[in-house]
Amino acid sequence: MWEYAPAPESRDIANLKPDYRMFVDGQFVEGGGEPLKTINPGTEEVLAEVSTAAPADVDKAVKAARRAYDRVWGRMPGSERAKYIFRIARLVQERSRELAVLESLDNGKPIKESRDVDVPTAAAHFFYHAGWADKLGHAGYGPDPKPLGVAGQVIPWNFPLLMAAWKIAPALACGNTVVLKPAETTPLSALVLAEIIQQADLPPGVVNILPGAGDVGAAVVSHPDVDKVAFTGSTDVGKVIQRQLAGTGKKLTLELGGKAANIVFDDAPLDQAVEGIVNGIFFNQGHVCCAGSRLLVQESVAEELLEKLRVRVSTLRVGDPLDKNTDIGAINSREQLTRIEELTASGEAEGAQRWTSSCPLPDKGFYFAPTVFSNVSQAMRIAREEIFGPVLSVLTFRTPDEAVAKANNTPYGLSAGIWTEKGSRILWAAQKMRAGVVWANTFNRFDPTAPFGGYQESGFGREGGRTGLEAYLDV
Ligand code: NAP
Ligand code: MG
Repeated sequence: MWEYAPAPESRDIANLKPDYRMFVDGQFVEGGGEPLKTINPGTEEVLAEVSTAAPADVDKAVKAARRAYDRVWGRMPGSERAKYIFRIARLVQERSRELAVLESLDNGKPIKESRDVDVPTAAAHFFYHAGWADKLGHAGYGPDPKPLGVAGQVIPWNFPLLMAAWKIAPALACGNTVVLKPAETTPLSALVLAEIIQQADLPPGVVNILPGAGDVGAAVVSHPDVDKVAFTGSTDVGKVIQRQLAGTGKKLTLELGGKAANIVFDDAPLDQAVEGIVNGIFFNQGHVCCAGSRLLVQESVAEELLEKLRVRVSTLRVGDPLDKNTDIGAINSREQLTRIEELTASGEAEGAQRWTSSCPLPDKGFYFAPTVFSNVSQAMRIAREEIFGPVLSVLTFRTPDEAVAKANNTPYGLSAGIWTEKGSRILWAAQKMRAGVVWANTFNRFDPTAPFGGYQESGFGREGGRTGLEAYLDV
């Protein structure tokens, strides 16, 4: 056995500052809320202190966004807006290494993912939407669709920069202004994006970024002068927001949780399927709303596939998020680690068979070894609830109809995967799956041109693609 030499990316590249401030009306300002300390979940050390918004700051930010909408951004020709969005995209690319290291420090995700997925996809969202800004009349929403006004946006901690890009880029392309609240545990990359927005000379007030906890999110979405709310996060909070907004006339999109089925038929190329299963559930520590967290495998190949899977998962390296060889980084917070531990304990208590990789874990920081549960039945909590961690639940099926029935037996409906050699079977199963995104012989592929969103308790509305523009237009 030979070992990998450590290959850490330097944390100096992140240009960490001791303090970060809110971004309101084009300026970085001190907020009236209690400052928060954001930590590196890979080491538990404090990275920086971040000022947070008080209710009066939310009001200031919404007023700034309204002014910018009325006076500048809402009236600007799309061809002009495009130039600003394009500039943001270029600056994200120019500062990509800094953003990748910062994201891995604040979130705990491995540097190879922030470097190769989060940051380039965030830039791609700005590029893509810059292209739409002057072509909205050709998007299928009438010859001259109008923006909505001020968008209040709240995002989670699993893809902090990428979710900010998913929210801000289409809002700006369509002519709206923005008040965005990043997640409490991962505010830093959104605030560096604010620096980029300042660098791009965006008119003051067009984008405002307010760090803080859930109460700041609640104040943003319930502010009476917000016209549109876009929320990505848990189903529980999504439901609270939907209740709050009922009858207000505000336009709402919700991107919530998931419990995706990844179905492997007996004719699938098993070695490729193993790679797809690993990518489906262990990418980003499993902190992925569309993660392939339920593996459905045809009984005749189940034993062979599971054996291959355990061998493969044993090779995954868990540890320092900044090491270029790390496959699985840190769990984002102690709170999330506790939730994963609690749900895996329930799996054992309910009689599922647990296998956990014997990989070494660092002494400090929040880590969880990749885990696979077999003999899982549909009623178990680990088959129904979102674990949001590196834990896979394996169920089996005998016929294609049974596979589809089990896949759809969930309150969610965000994504699904199909592994088979037969194109006809892919089309048959994809049509029957009640999921917003269905991947065939691949998993967790993201592209700004492809709409993303859910059914049922996974939410409603789409982000990305032509369809995603609808959420930010008065149509
Ligand atoms: P969460 O608790 O719902 O938090 C999401 C965001 O909402 C955070 O910024 C949070 O602030 C804020 N928030 C909390 N309470 C609020 C309230 N009453 N009103 C307004 N905002 C409020 O979710 P999470 O546990 O951080 O994130 C994981 C969840 O997000 C998972 O369920 C996952 O499936 C889902 N997710 C979905 C998608 C998708 O596209 N469908 C993508 C990523 C994640 P704090 O940070 O202070 O808590
Ligand atoms: Mg953090």
